[in-house]
Amino acid sequence: MVEERKHSLSPSAWNRYETCPRMYWLSRQGLPKKTGMAASLGTAVHASIEDLLQIDLTGRGPAESNWLLQEGDTLLRKRWEEEKQLFHETPRHPNWKEEKYSEAQKQQKGAINMLLDHVGVQGLAHERVTVALWKKIQSLVIAVEGELVTKDGQLMGRLDLLLANVDDAGNLTGWLVADLKTGKPPQGKLKPEVNRQLRMYRDILLSNNEKAPPVQAQGWYTDTSSKWDAIGENVLEAAYEAWSATQPSDTPLDPTPGQSSCGGFCDWKAWCPHWWTWRHENKSLHKGDFADGVVLIHQYDEGRSTATVEECVPRNEFGEIEPTGEMRTVRFDGRGKESLEALLDAGHQGPLFLGSAMMNRDVWRVGPWCDVLPWAPIPDSGRP
Ligand code: SF4
Repeated sequence: MVEERKHSLSPSAWNRYETCPRMYWLSRQGLPKKTGMAASLGTAVHASIEDLLQIDLTGRGPAESNWLLQEGDTLLRKRWEEEKQLFHETPRHPNWKEEKYSEAQKQQKGAINMLLDHVGVQGLAHERVTVALWKKIQSLVIAVEGELVTKDGQLMGRLDLLLANVDDAGNLTGWLVADLKTGKPPQGKLKPEVNRQLRMYRDILLSNNEKAPPVQAQGWYTDTSSKWDAIGENVLEAAYEAWSATQPSDTPLDPTPGQSSCGGFCDWKAWCPHWWTWRHENKSLHKGDFADGVVLIHQYDEGRSTATVEECVPRNEFGEIEPTGEMRTVRFDGRGKESLEALLDAGHQGPLFLGSAMMNRDVWRVGPWCDVLPWAPIPDSGRP
C-alpha cells in the first residue's frame, strides 16, 4: 500500500533511489522490514551519546571526576536493551549477538573522545573527565537528535548533533553538524553518498536560517575517533529533483539491476524479479558464497534440519518460476531454520526465496543471517 502522508525525502531514501529506483519504491510498500546487529549497535551508541549530552549535572561539584564511565555505561545498557527488544520485534532479523556489547562500549568511548576533542582535549582518560569539563561540552551543544525539515516539508533528515564552533576567546565562529558513524571509517575521503547526506543536512540548515554563521558538516567515525569534512556545492536543487521523481505511485519505479545495486545490499529481492533475470542471464545464478536463490521445497527433515530443494530459474520477466529438475540438499540453522519452519507451519506452499545462502558447496547452508521468505515478486505493472 502506498503511504498517504505527505511525501518527504531523507538522505538515506535519496541514496536508495540513486542506487536503484525500484529498491526505493519497494522500501515504501509496507513489506516486512529487515534489521541487523550493526544497525542496532549504532542506534544504541547514538542514543547513549545523546543522553550523555543531555544529562543533568546540577548539584554535582565541578571538580568531581570518576563519574563518566559509570554514567556512560548505565545509559548505553539501557539503550542496548531497548534496541534488543526492537530488534526482536522486527520481522526479519538475524540472531542477536550479545557479545557485541563490548564493541558498543568501544564505539561510545570513541564518540566521547571526539566530543572532548571538540573542546581541545585529547588523550584524557575518561575517569578523569570532570563535571566542569563535561558542562563545557554541553554548553556548546545547540541541538541533539533534531529533525531537520525544509520549510516546505519536502526534504528532511535526522541530525545527530549540532555544535557551536568557538574560537579561543569563546566567540561563536560557526555551526558544526556532527553525524556519528559507527560503521567502517572512510579510506582517504568520505564515500560520495555520505558526503551528499552531510551536505544535505548543512544545506537544509542554511536554507532555514538565513542568518546562520558558516556551517561545517562532518562525519564522526567512532571506531577510530576520526572526523571527516563533507565538502562540495549545495545539493538542494538535486535533492528537490529526486523528491519530484520519488512521488508515491502504485506503479513500480524502474529497476537498475547490476552488481552495484543487486550485488550490494538490497533488502527487497524477495519482491523483485529483476535481480533474478539479471543473474540468470549472466549465468551467476545460485553461485558463490552469500548468493540468492529461488527454490521449491520437496522434503524437509526437521530432526536433521535439512531440506531437499529444486532450483528454479525465471520463466519470464514477471518472476514466474521454471523448475529445473536440479536437486540440492540445504542445511538450515539459527534464524534461517526458524524462518523456514514458521513458513512450513503456516502451510506455505510454492517457491521460496533464499537470501545470502552459502551456495559454494555441495550442501547449501542457510544460516542465521539469511532471508527465508515466500517468493512473491511484484511485476513491473504493480500489484495485481
Ligand atoms: S533486486 Fe536489484 S533491481 Fe531489484 S530492487 Fe533490488 S537492487 Fe533493484
